[in-house]
Amino acid sequence: MDVKDSLELFQKYLQSQKQHITQTRLKIAAEVFKSQDHFDAHDLWRRLEEPRIAPATIYRTLDLLCRSGLVRRMELENRALYERVIGRPRHEHLVCVHCGAILEFEDPLLEDRLAEVVERFQFHRISHQVIVSGICPACQKKP
Ligand SMILES: [Zn+2]
Ligand SMILES: [Zn+2]
Repeated sequence: MDVKDSLELFQKYLQSQKQHITQTRLKIAAEVFKSQDHFDAHDLWRRLEEPRIAPATIYRTLDLLCRSGLVRRMELENRALYERVIGRPRHEHLVCVHCGAILEFEDPLLEDRLAEVVERFQFHRISHQVIVSGICPACQKKP
């Protein structure tokens, strides 16, 4: 799944929701589809190197990307982080409350169990997050 394919899916989503497909939205989405990490809205704004893009436009586009299911939002204590979901293995996170390290883990059994729960409640899932907050091994060693 490359950036172009992901952008096509996003455009289809925008059309299905009767949302405008603008060059700015596509530019923001392309930057997100290139990303390999967890980032917040401000990180994204900096990467775009287009100071004229209003923060509100970035937030709105991120919101649409999350609703489309192509991007996931992670709520931490003091910030919201985003990550590309499309083209990446399903995974969840461990977050260190001391140094902010974010560790990813893949656990197919956990994902299958979540899918069963969603099914049982006949829920239409948009996104989900499993976050274990705690202290990473390196920080545990600090006095
Ligand atoms: Zn740590
Ligand atoms: Zn992640």
